[in-house]
Amino acid sequence: MSGGIVVVGASLAGLRVAEALRGNGYTGRLRLVGDEPHLPYDRPPLSKHVLTGEWEAGRTALTTSAKLAEAGIETVLGARAVAADTESVTLADGTRIAYDRLVVATGAAARTWPGTAPGGRVHRLRTLDDGVRLRTALAEGGPVVVVGGGFIGLEVAAAARGYGLDVTVVELAGTLLEPVLGPEIGACFTRLHRAEGVRVLTGVPLTSLREGTGAVTVRLADGTELTAAHVVVGIGAEPNNAWLGGLGLDDAAGVPCDARGRAGDRVWALGDVAAWEQPVHGDRVRHEHWTSAVDQAAVVAAAVLGREPARPQAPPYFWSTQYDVNFQLAGRPDLAASVQVLEAGEDGADRGTVFALTDATGRRVAVAAFHNPRRFLRLRRELREEPTEAPSRP
Ligand SMILES: Cc1cc2nc3c(=O)[nH]c(=O)nc-3n(C[C@H](O)[C@H](O)[C@H](O)COP(=O)(O)OP(=O)(O)OC[C@H]3O[C@@H](n4cnc5c(N)ncnc54)[C@H](O)[C@@H]3O)c2cc1C
Repeated sequence: MSGGIVVVGASLAGLRVAEALRGNGYTGRLRLVGDEPHLPYDRPPLSKHVLTGEWEAGRTALTTSAKLAEAGIETVLGARAVAADTESVTLADGTRIAYDRLVVATGAAARTWPGTAPGGRVHRLRTLDDGVRLRTALAEGGPVVVVGGGFIGLEVAAAARGYGLDVTVVELAGTLLEPVLGPEIGACFTRLHRAEGVRVLTGVPLTSLREGTGAVTVRLADGTELTAAHVVVGIGAEPNNAWLGGLGLDDAAGVPCDARGRAGDRVWALGDVAAWEQPVHGDRVRHEHWTSAVDQAAVVAAAVLGREPARPQAPPYFWSTQYDVNFQLAGRPDLAASVQVLEAGEDGADRGTVFALTDATGRRVAVAAFHNPRRFLRLRRELREEPTEAPSRP
């Protein structure tokens, strides 16, 4: 066999695993295949510094052609993988790329509202091109309606307020971020955005988005009708693994992997597309966290080369920046049954509040800080997890 290692998905996870393979002494052929035209770039700034205009788009670059060439990493860009079998990956133009070992790092795609297409007044935010398009739209003026009170939607709302625009956030749950963090922490975000002048509509489903000339009409189930210059849909993301049907890895929950990213014979997956086994909790989870992609890259590179990973997996970590608030989260909020305040903000303010999230047995499964990085750092270190006695697999 002569295909060497083929990494599909030329973004954070794909780049970091390719770099780590070289760092671990792999000297064979190494190709990084991606469907976007750009070299790997960083996504978190897209909803923050790029959207606010503080950063030029080019500042998100994670590498350069020269660095890739120096590392002997060949890039195949603008090339969409449409199928894979045990020997090769097929691209949209019919080219077949043979591999000895395949690493899947195709991430996730933003869910869209039915009947809307990118390029109009209904936006999504996943790629650099989406970010640049949305920045131009915000600079043009509002009103802006954000559909979905998750992290990306709320970062967009904060950026839009920075342009002085009239902003409404529409969220199906009772508070912003409730499905991810529960109502207590979600309420902090709801108060923050209201205080910053955002109109927050919760508990009402969206029924339709109709794009007309120069405006979008947004209708909610309770009869509310909103008119927006631009709508941003932030209703989550789906793993990009439909192309892996030939390997039986197209599970809607993400590419099922063991605790070191192995998905099959000579196949590994990592990052937003991959659902890794979690020995600590006895389940399998797909994270959409920057740090998970980076941590997993080190583990996968070692596993692909038949080595032990350098260090055990740390609890998952996520951050978000909205206005001047830095929010941090470590652990598994999806397992939480209750939330306790560990430290209240000064004079009862939300800023500074630190939360512990515990499961039904009282075990701490996550910690979160609403603008308290110092205390969070200690709690994150303490969040050491012990494996369950007998991990069960889903
Ligand atoms: C706007 C935004 C803000 C974010 N902010 C934060 C944050 O503040 N904190 C945090 O922890 N995380 C944040 N994230 C999440 C973080 O960026 C992701 O976890 C990270 O990008 C995952 O990296 P990845 O390489 O696994 O996937 P991706 O970055 O999604 O990259 C996958 C790549 O594969 C390509 N691809 C897909 N399908 C194919 C195919 N069939 N063939 C070839 N190529 C393909 C994609 O186009 C993409 O280039 C944010 C994400 C977004 C979108």
